[in-house]
Amino acid sequence: RPDTPFMGPRTQDTRLWHPFSDMATVRDRELVITRGEDVWLWDEDGNRYLDAFASLWYTNIGHGRSEIADAVAAQMRELEAFTIFFDYANRPALELAELLAELSPMPGSRVMLTPGGGSEAIDTAVKMARRYWFEMGQPDRRHVVSRAHAYHGSNGIGTGIGGIDANRDGWGAALPETSRVGHDSVEALEGEIARVGADRIAAFVCEPVMGAGGVHPPPPGYIEGVAALCRAHDILFVCDSVICGFGRLGTWFGIERWNVEPDVITFAKGVTSGYLPLGGVLFGARVCEPFWSEPGRMVRHGYTFAGHPACCTAALANIAVIDREGLLDRALEIERDLTAVLRPLEDHPAVAEVRSGTGAMAAVELVEEGGAPGLMMRMRAAGVLVRASSPTAVAVCPPLTITREQVDTIGEAFAHSLGA
Ligand code: PLP
Repeated sequence: RPDTPFMGPRTQDTRLWHPFSDMATVRDRELVITRGEDVWLWDEDGNRYLDAFASLWYTNIGHGRSEIADAVAAQMRELEAFTIFFDYANRPALELAELLAELSPMPGSRVMLTPGGGSEAIDTAVKMARRYWFEMGQPDRRHVVSRAHAYHGSNGIGTGIGGIDANRDGWGAALPETSRVGHDSVEALEGEIARVGADRIAAFVCEPVMGAGGVHPPPPGYIEGVAALCRAHDILFVCDSVICGFGRLGTWFGIERWNVEPDVITFAKGVTSGYLPLGGVLFGARVCEPFWSEPGRMVRHGYTFAGHPACCTAALANIAVIDREGLLDRALEIERDLTAVLRPLEDHPAVAEVRSGTGAMAAVELVEEGGAPGLMMRMRAAGVLVRASSPTAVAVCPPLTITREQVDTIGEAFAHSLGA
């Protein structure tokens, strides 16, 4: 059983501005995590928590693996960093690109690496989609369609195409030449293509399972339907696998669960399990073709720390663990365990529905508007860390090493925290 954690106000006045946090209240209740081991975390006061949220959808191999630290330390001693701009390369970056292209469901893939994570990956993917059509002699194909409630990061383009309007408070309008459609309707995309005109649309951007927007698995036929529409209208299908990749849905990039082939895949988070930051974009053969076959088409885009050898080494070591320990298959067992343990909560009067069944991620949707943050805090007091993914949804996204008994612990914490 988890120990009882410290819940009272802290005395320090923090100088740290936390992402996505109401600092007027958070400043008094920072929870300082000091140590991690597998699914367990400890705070400064020695209280133990079950990390049922994989930190922030990313600790796929669990915390505290010294083999990753050892591999990174060895690389840092050999060559801490040197640029991959122009014609420079380093072995870890080359090896990672090779491996990702091999694992990619898109034949002939090439990869751009981003140092920070998913936000840079999305901005890169959208810039490249527009640039692709420019190279193809269709410069008017710039419009990007994304989905209501989608989260695609905090950089300029991700902010500009995101489907959570509040994320643009004070920032202004959505990005010009973009629009958002209902997140579960093939017809909505079809209507938008008719409205905008296929010959003006560069790309459709879609998470296989919507994560930050509250864990929404796609309805049956949705992914196949939108992929077919993109194919029929020659629109690039950009799959945002930042959350869904590296085992989360039981496959390397999430999208393999459906019988479709995207043109572009973004990834981050689980590619290193967060041991160091790294993300990137895989481009299928079609998008690579104009850039790789003819000279004079340099893309003026890239980040100083792209291909950082220490981060690439962390990714290689992390992927080796996922592979060696069979964590893709394990994710499918966790999918069943989460469904078995969480679905019965639908009998509770406070619970509207439980969403699960596509990988090691699930959400408990509450009846009460604004109820999720409170439930999250009661779960924390019971020793289980989850995330309020919307005002009404509490998301669960454990490391792929979690045992059935530990999934039971999550279920018990929900039952206890929901009350009688
Ligand atoms: N895309 C998706 C689907 C995400 O869930 C996120 C982050 O949660 C991002 C992009 C942004 O990634 P990052 O926070 O690593 O920049």
